[in-house]
Amino acid sequence: MKLAKRVASLTPSATLEITAKAKELVDQGHDVIALGAGEPDFNTPQHIIDATVIAMNEGHTKYTPSGGLLSLRKVICNKLRTDQGLEYLPSEIIVGSGAKHILYTLFQAILDEGDEVIIPTPYWVSYPEQVKLAGGIPIYVDGLEQNEYKITKDQLKAAITPNTKAIILNSPSNPTGMIYSKEELAELGGVCLEHNVLIVSDEIYEKLTYDGATHTSIAQLSPELKEQTIIINGVSKSHSMTGWRIGYAAGNAELIKAMTNLASHSTSNPTSIAQYATIAAYEGSQETVEEMRQAFEERLNIIYAKLVEIPGFSCIKPQGAFYLFPNVSKAAELSGYVSVDEWATALLEEKKVAIVPGSGFGAPDNIRLSYATSLDLLEKAVSRMDEFMKEKT
Ligand code: PLP
Repeated sequence: MKLAKRVASLTPSATLEITAKAKELVDQGHDVIALGAGEPDFNTPQHIIDATVIAMNEGHTKYTPSGGLLSLRKVICNKLRTDQGLEYLPSEIIVGSGAKHILYTLFQAILDEGDEVIIPTPYWVSYPEQVKLAGGIPIYVDGLEQNEYKITKDQLKAAITPNTKAIILNSPSNPTGMIYSKEELAELGGVCLEHNVLIVSDEIYEKLTYDGATHTSIAQLSPELKEQTIIINGVSKSHSMTGWRIGYAAGNAELIKAMTNLASHSTSNPTSIAQYATIAAYEGSQETVEEMRQAFEERLNIIYAKLVEIPGFSCIKPQGAFYLFPNVSKAAELSGYVSVDEWATALLEEKKVAIVPGSGFGAPDNIRLSYATSLDLLEKAVSRMDEFMKEKT
């Protein structure tokens, strides 16, 4: 079968690849600890499920407007006002089938062939592929380890060309867990305003911040930056609703309209009952959101302390999201592997611990491990990694 060039050149998701390999080992009867997951391990809060059952029984099982129910878009406007002091109209909101598909729709709506999108590394695996699928060119800017994997204003300036259309900022970041401060955002924002670069602000991990760190949206910094920004968010990570597939964007009405037109010919509306679930998620008590955050923070503190004791591991303590992103190049070298990728494969085969090699995130010296799993399993996984290193060195 001769496939279209656009799919032939797609890089398979690194996260899914290791998950598939881990599953194969589980099927063979091995006791695998999988730390590849990109989703909270909690159930969706019960009041959200209950509201969905009511919506189903009331017959809300039909098409809705392509860009989402007006009632939901109003609830999202309230959320943005309450949490971030940002004023949006429902016409400036689109709801779609997960933040991932919202991003896909966005790039389809803004990119022409050859347009450049600045992607700081380490990056979430889908950004470059989505940009390429829309005919765009990813321009990588290295978030250096010594700068907590964040890019600077000077690096950004140097990457801008007449073809630069947008930059993607993801804070708190998947995979690094780092958060841009207000001052850092203001500096980057200034450059984007000067060069008319659209800021795509992926805030999906907004609610997961630790040790007093707080999330600021770059759109909060000034009316000009709000105009220059499209916010991406959703309920997958905050409300443990990954399977419900609801994400949204807030931004310029003309852009939102174009995205909505596009969605009307691809997905139509996101699932009607999941939209009712999201209304309940935002209108109901936020206590469970905070409980989940606290559970993640407790795990982070316990596991981080043990992880940094493993020979050859160095790790900046994450401020948000639910991933640890240690640099293990030294560990790979000490144990005789030529690359972290090979080290990670051996770790899975020999110790049955599945983590995601950083090469998929544009950071070949690192690995990503998710602490969205029980403390018990996390502790076991860290012991196995420690054992692996002690046996190899
Ligand atoms: N953005 C980032 C940085 C993510 O890590 C994810 C999920 O892993 C998403 C967006 C997509 O979230 P969803 O499509 O589940 O709303």
